[in-house]
Amino acid sequence: MNRFFLGFVALLVLGQPLLPEFTVTLLNYIGLYALVALGLVLLTGIGGLTSFGQAAFVGVGAYATAYLTTVHGVSPWGTLIVGMAVTTGISLFLGFITLRLSGHFLPLGTIAWGISLYFLFGNLEPLGGHTGVAGIPPINLFGIELKSGRTLYYLIWAVLLSAIVTTQHMLDSREGRAMRSLRSATMSEAMGINTTWYKMVIFMMAAQFACVSGWMYAHLQRFVNPTPFGLHIGIEYLFMAVVGGVANVWGAVLGATLVTLLKQWLQDWLPALLGKAGNFEVVVFGLMMIYVLHRAREGLWPILLRLIPQKRQGRVIEAAEPLPRRSMPEAGSIVLDVQKVTKRFGGLVANNNMSLHVKAGEILALIGPNGAGKSTMFNCISGVNPPTQGEIRFLGDRVEGTESREIARRGMSRTFQHVRLNATMSVLENVAIGAHLRGHKNFIQSAWRMDRTEERRILGEAARQLERCGLSEHLNDTAGSLALGKQRLVEIARALCADPCLLLLDEPAAGLRHLEKQALADLLRKLRAEGMAILLVEHDMDFVMGLADRVTVMEFGEFLAEGPPEEVQRNPKVLEAYLGGVE
Ligand code: ADP
Ligand code: MG
Repeated sequence: MNRFFLGFVALLVLGQPLLPEFTVTLLNYIGLYALVALGLVLLTGIGGLTSFGQAAFVGVGAYATAYLTTVHGVSPWGTLIVGMAVTTGISLFLGFITLRLSGHFLPLGTIAWGISLYFLFGNLEPLGGHTGVAGIPPINLFGIELKSGRTLYYLIWAVLLSAIVTTQHMLDSREGRAMRSLRSATMSEAMGINTTWYKMVIFMMAAQFACVSGWMYAHLQRFVNPTPFGLHIGIEYLFMAVVGGVANVWGAVLGATLVTLLKQWLQDWLPALLGKAGNFEVVVFGLMMIYVLHRAREGLWPILLRLIPQKRQGRVIEAAEPLPRRSMPEAGSIVLDVQKVTKRFGGLVANNNMSLHVKAGEILALIGPNGAGKSTMFNCISGVNPPTQGEIRFLGDRVEGTESREIARRGMSRTFQHVRLNATMSVLENVAIGAHLRGHKNFIQSAWRMDRTEERRILGEAARQLERCGLSEHLNDTAGSLALGKQRLVEIARALCADPCLLLLDEPAAGLRHLEKQALADLLRKLRAEGMAILLVEHDMDFVMGLADRVTVMEFGEFLAEGPPEEVQRNPKVLEAYLGGVE
């Protein structure tokens, strides 16, 4: 990719003098559109949020500079800062209202604010109403006035390429991994990721990209009116991102290029072909969109990528100082104490007056028939789904009602019965998500690669935990390519990456082969010896009985029995309720 990138830059820089005026103009617009589409790659492809309203942010950038340069004589660089500040304010406000909306309410929300801002531009008298603002001065860069499209071309593409490179860097970091897991909110929060904050960050970033694009647009046109910032253009931006491919930053460039060129050609050819004037390209675009969505859901970039032969090179783990570890609670002290927890789902009582406790350096197995309420108990304990009644103490503090990411921060980590991995991310990256709370570099530091030492330490930790779980050879595989049993082990490695003092494992041995089960049991014994408290739900009785110090049995959501494995195994109540069916 690097060679391609350098070649692309060289072509852009050296090719400019050879290009006809018209091509330079087209490339300028492609650059401006691609910058907005890049924001949509972040929003839609990474965050799973759909916005039809990006054109409005382009308008904010354009109008801020149009108004301030013409009316108040502010320098374009000053207006850029003001534009970005205004965009931050508006996106914070809109993000606060709309990002909490789920499903189709979010896109509808973006349509609503897209329309409102558009009408605001057209109706505010100082902004020139529908006639717009003319006489915008050119940008002055190091004493050179960027008057022509040819000179602005360099600025536009330099900004776009920097945005692409920094975005790519950011996505390949602790912050980026958090953003890439936003679609799996429950898992992310359980790993300590503040999903609301990261949604807000990508929303603001996308808005800033659009704002900067609008700023350059205004100084390229030297005139603005509301038309290019309307809802239909917002839809077109989304179209570019989706057609190009929202999973990759280059999809934005590809999409912007294809849509701009096609629009140009269609506008020229369709009226001639049909012998009538009109915006026929809109119809053709609509049909194309349906076709692309039908045939290439991931957009066209992945298809283009497949045409270029490339070596898949895995990540090499570099030596790094291990991350600091938390101190384990005193051996034998009670780490988790659940007292009389009840969890109701409407009329269904999934946990009824249930109690259990786990000590440091102990493995407690929670067993019971399917539907007994074990996973529900896990969700109560880990803050994923708080209990209706009862008390849960973790390290002595009450945690029922505490958010799961805060509980994670205090040292509890878990796996899920239904595996929650990011299937397209590598095994190593998935596991590194577990170490989210052990890193501190923010997204700006990541974008500028000021996080590399920390990143090496995090990836080093992830690799170490993967090795412990016997997955070293799968480091660079995508998580989705692994067998289900192995995916469970990846979840255990991810949980261990958080350096927990209490580990909750929901059916960790399901789908594992005999030798893998033995290796897992050995690992859990080792963790116990290190002082970790482990709470384990498992159906494989041989596995449980040979491993657990104590067993708690539940049935129909209620406590049934508790004791050392041999004793529980002989308990008539348990035999009848649970083991009876097995024997
Ligand atoms: P186990 O893990 O012991 O097999 P669960 O805790 O998954 O059992 O389920 C216990 C009961 O709670 C089941 O009857 C299940 O259908 C119900 N249940 C679990 N989660 C929910 C939920 N989110 N909403 C409604 N019912 C649920
Ligand atoms: Mg379960």
